[in-house]
Amino acid sequence: MEQPLLEISGLRTGFDTYDGKVRAVDGVDLTVHAGKTLCVVGESGCGKSVTARSILRLVDAPGRIEGGKVVWHGDDEPFDVLSLDHDDRRLQRLRGGEIGMIFQEPSASLLQLRTIGAQLIETIRIHTGLDKKAARARAIALLDQVGIPDPERRVDAYPFQLSGGMCQRAMIAIALCANPSLLIADEPTTALDVTTQARILDLIRDLQAEHSMAVMFITHDLGVVAELADEVAVMYLGRVVERAGVEELFADPKHPYTKQLLASVPVLGRDRGRDLPTIPGIVPNPLHRPRGCSFHPRCAEAIAGRCDVDDPPEVVFDDGRTAECVLYDENEGVRA
Ligand code: SF4
Repeated sequence: MEQPLLEISGLRTGFDTYDGKVRAVDGVDLTVHAGKTLCVVGESGCGKSVTARSILRLVDAPGRIEGGKVVWHGDDEPFDVLSLDHDDRRLQRLRGGEIGMIFQEPSASLLQLRTIGAQLIETIRIHTGLDKKAARARAIALLDQVGIPDPERRVDAYPFQLSGGMCQRAMIAIALCANPSLLIADEPTTALDVTTQARILDLIRDLQAEHSMAVMFITHDLGVVAELADEVAVMYLGRVVERAGVEELFADPKHPYTKQLLASVPVLGRDRGRDLPTIPGIVPNPLHRPRGCSFHPRCAEAIAGRCDVDDPPEVVFDDGRTAECVLYDENEGVRA
């Protein structure tokens, strides 16, 4: 049986703005299993990144985590990350220690006026207690491991002296420096060209196999999902609307949003010369959430008088996958 490493339930994170409260994450349930890859997918603005930052309590004001649980199962007794005091040692150990995080924009996340080595060595020393010399040797070994050529020299380079791909590799090295059990990668290849993107994905996959790490990979790219995921969570407007194993999801999507997302992906050879279907409209402003199912204004299967009135139930299917939609019988997971 698969062991849960991280269990998120009922997570709610909001932002107070002059126009009202934005419920960026609105009751998210997710589980990451040890050694497996969970891909969290959805359009921009659906709450993927805020969910990831909430796990490590890295949400800046005016954002606020308002409820739910984030239970970490690590080696010791499981504990709820959201219940810890800010100075609790378990929270410090978790950030950058047991959970490594790669952010979307390496150039914004690395300190531009400190060398890559200084940033790596500091993190290594905090989490491993190595002395300066040993930490520098480990920093060089890590840069080598993530494929940075000439690591003995590059360790003393500043981020602005490296390419985008190399900065992203340096970020991965920092995230890996304490051998984390979970790597959270928040759209780590979005800003990179396709060749570098493919190399970074290969690297993450190789490192995962080598370290038996779990990976939570956040992306809007279904091609990446197909390549990396064991499990997939599809998010829409702050909620997980479908969860399934990757093969089941691609073979038989249940939620109309997932179906429409998959239909908009080009298939080599098949879609030549024809327009791809698109999902009509845009993700609504979370300040003005549609009543009922928040996807109903864009849904091809919406039922008037029902989808625009009632919140859809979460339906659990026989194989454990879930979908939030009125099209299925709530008790048995069969199409209603
Ligand atoms: Fe579409 Fe209704 Fe299902 Fe929402 S609940 S996804 S509007 S069919």
